[in-house]
Amino acid sequence: MLNRRCWTATAATLVLTAAALVHPGTGMAAPDAVSARATAPVTLAADETALIRVELRDEAHFRELLADGADIANRPRQQDGRILADLVLTGRQLAALTAQGAVARQVVQREGDGARRYADSVRAAQARTSKGLRAPAEGRGVAVAAVDTLHFLQSYWWTSNGKTFLQTQVATTAAEDPDVEITVTWRTADGTTGSFPLARFSDAGEYQYHFSVPQAVPARPTQVTATSSLGGTARPSTPAKWPNATPPALPEGYQKDFIDAYLTPVDVQSRIRRLARQYPELVDVIDLPHQTQGYRRTAAGYLGDPAAAAVVVESVKFGAQNMNGVQVRTVDPGRANRPLSASYRDRVLTVSLATDGAGTTISTTDQVAAFISARYPQQFSAFVEDGSAGLPMPIAGPVRLDDGLKGSEVPKKPWTVQALRIGAHRDGSRIGVLAYSQEHAREWATPLVTLEFAERLLANAGTDPATRELLDSVDVFVIPTVNPDGANYSFHDANFQRKNLVNHCTGAQRDPANRDSWGVDVNRNYTVGSLFDGYTGASTNCLSGTYAGTAELSEAESRNVIALAKAHTNIKFAMNVHSYGGYFMWPPGAYQADGRITLPRPTIDESKMFLDSARRIVGAISTERGTVTWPSQTGPVADVLYSAAGNSADQLYYELGILAWDFEVGNDLWNDATGEWEGVGFQPPFDEAHAESQEYAAGLIELLRVAKDHAAAQ
Ligand SMILES: [Zn+2]
Repeated sequence: MLNRRCWTATAATLVLTAAALVHPGTGMAAPDAVSARATAPVTLAADETALIRVELRDEAHFRELLADGADIANRPRQQDGRILADLVLTGRQLAALTAQGAVARQVVQREGDGARRYADSVRAAQARTSKGLRAPAEGRGVAVAAVDTLHFLQSYWWTSNGKTFLQTQVATTAAEDPDVEITVTWRTADGTTGSFPLARFSDAGEYQYHFSVPQAVPARPTQVTATSSLGGTARPSTPAKWPNATPPALPEGYQKDFIDAYLTPVDVQSRIRRLARQYPELVDVIDLPHQTQGYRRTAAGYLGDPAAAAVVVESVKFGAQNMNGVQVRTVDPGRANRPLSASYRDRVLTVSLATDGAGTTISTTDQVAAFISARYPQQFSAFVEDGSAGLPMPIAGPVRLDDGLKGSEVPKKPWTVQALRIGAHRDGSRIGVLAYSQEHAREWATPLVTLEFAERLLANAGTDPATRELLDSVDVFVIPTVNPDGANYSFHDANFQRKNLVNHCTGAQRDPANRDSWGVDVNRNYTVGSLFDGYTGASTNCLSGTYAGTAELSEAESRNVIALAKAHTNIKFAMNVHSYGGYFMWPPGAYQADGRITLPRPTIDESKMFLDSARRIVGAISTERGTVTWPSQTGPVADVLYSAAGNSADQLYYELGILAWDFEVGNDLWNDATGEWEGVGFQPPFDEAHAESQEYAAGLIELLRVAKDHAAAQ
C-alpha cells in the first residue's frame, strides 16, 4: 500500500493554513483521530478518507477551500446560521479543518463503504434474480424608523410523503450589512403560526439573498411575512405550490425497474450490447471517436526507503505493457574507483553505484535518478523522493515495479466509450436529446439513471402508445459512462476517485503516494468559461480534485461528448447527470471571481423556458417516491451551486446552442426524528441508489416530452 503515506497538495495547503492560524508550537503531529461535537461524534483515523458534512467557520472559509481546489461535494448550505459543506477528507485534513474552527456533523460515507455497497448490491441482485421554532429576532434597542426594506424573492410550499415543507428567499435593501437578521413567520389556514430565521447567502463576496433549507410546517402555509433586525418588513406573501406540475399518468402495465445492482463500466458495456441485440429496430450503438487511455498506469516502485533515502523508478510504458514485475536494484560493485553504471536484462534493472579509492559507494540519490532516466529513456524515468535530495544512495532492492491496479477483470487496453442512440427515426430528422452520465467516476448512481431511462423507452415502446409517440418524435442519445477508466478505478481501487486516469503530473508529484489524486476533472476540461479563460472553480494543480487538464479538451472523455454533439446537429437538449445533493441546474455555470462576472445570462424567454421545463421535470421526479428538488437548488449552476469553470453544459449551450441542464441526483433525505436534512453521498446503500435511478429516469422521460413539445411549437 503506497497511497496511505501522504495526500494531495490540497491537503498540504489546508494543514499549512491550519498551522499558520492555530497556536504555533502545539506540535506538528496530527492526532491519530479527531472527534468533534455533533449529534453522534464523528471520528476518523488520520489516514482514513471519508465524505464528511462539515460545519465551516464562515463563507470566507468555504471560498478558501474552493480556491485551494478542495474536493467539495456540494455548495455549502446555510442552516440556522451554520454553513454546511460536504468534503472528501482524510482524518488529518479533518483535524486541520477542526483546528480552523470547523465542526464535523455527519459521516456521509467512509472509504470502505464503496466496495461493501457494490458487493451488497450484487449479492442482493443475485438473490433476486420540524424542529422547535425560534422566536423572531429581537430588534436592536429602541424603536426607530426601519432602515431596510425586505421582499420575497421566492416563497414555495410542497408536500412530500405526508410532510409539508416551506422554503423562502428574502432580499434586504441593507445588502452591505453582514449582521442583518431576517425572520420569516408563517400562518396556516387554521391560524397556526410559527417562525424561523434565514441565513445570509453571499457568493464570491457579493450579497445574494437570505434563505434557509426547507422547513417542516404542520400544514399548507397560506401567508408568510418577514421582518429584519433593522426593523424592515416585507409585504405578506402567499406561498406558491412547488413545482406544481404533474406528468401524465403511466398506463397499466408500464414496465420499469431494470436496475438491480450497481454497474461497473464492464457491466455497462454488456448492458449496452444487450439492449442493441434486444431492440435492433430502435437502437444504434455509437462508438465515440476518442479512445480513452484505458484502465492502465505506469509501473513504479521505491528504490530505497521512502522514509530515509529513496529514488522513485517508474516505467515509461504502462505496467500492463509487460512492465509490471520488472525489478530494480542498486548494488555495490565491490571494487574501488568504479563509475556509476547499469544493466537491464531479464527484466531486472541493476544499477551499480560509483565507488571511491577505498571502494566505498559514493553515488547520491540525484545521481542515480538522473543516470537511470538518461541511460534508459525508452524504459524508465526516475526522480528523487521528496526529502531524499542529495543523500547517499543506499544499496537497495530488488524492488518490483507495479501499476498497483487491482481490477483484474478490467481489460488493460484503450477503452471505446459508447453511446446508445434510441428512436424510431435515427436519421437526424427528429429533435435530438442527449443524456450523459458519470463524467465523475465515483458517482455510481448516475449510469443507473441513464440506463433505466433508456430501457424504459425500449421496453415500453411496443405496448405504451405515449412511449411510442416519444420515440417517433425524438432522437435520443445516451452516454451512460463518460469516464470509464476513472469509474473502473473507483470500483476497484479507490472509491472516492472523481477524475479520469490520465496522469499529467511531473516530477515529485508523480510519487506513487499521490496515486489516488492523479487525473483530470473531465467536467472542468471543456472550452467555454474555462480556467484557461480566467473563470473560477477549477485548478491548475494536477493533484487537485478539480484539475482542469493541460489545455481545453486535452482529454478523450471530454472530446467524446463534444464530438457526439457536433456530429448530430439535431441535438437541441442535453442533460448532464451527476450526483449528489438534489440539484437541477442550467447555464451559466461559471463566473470570473473578480467581480463575480458570470458567462452571459440566458434571455428572459430562455430563462423562462429553463424554469418552466425544470418545474415539469422536478414534478416527474417527485412521482416516484415523493422527492422534491428544492426551489433553492433549481436554477443556474453559478447561482445555486458554485462556479465550475470549463464544464460541459456551458460548452454545449454557449458554443453549440443546446439547452443544456445538469442533474445532481441523490437529494438530501429528511430525518423526521432529528429534524435535519441528511446527505446521501456518492455511493449510498444500493436501495437508495436504486430509488435515485427510478426517480431521475422519470425526470429524463419528462425531458423528452419537453423536447417534443418544443419541436412541435417551432
Ligand atoms: Zn459530478
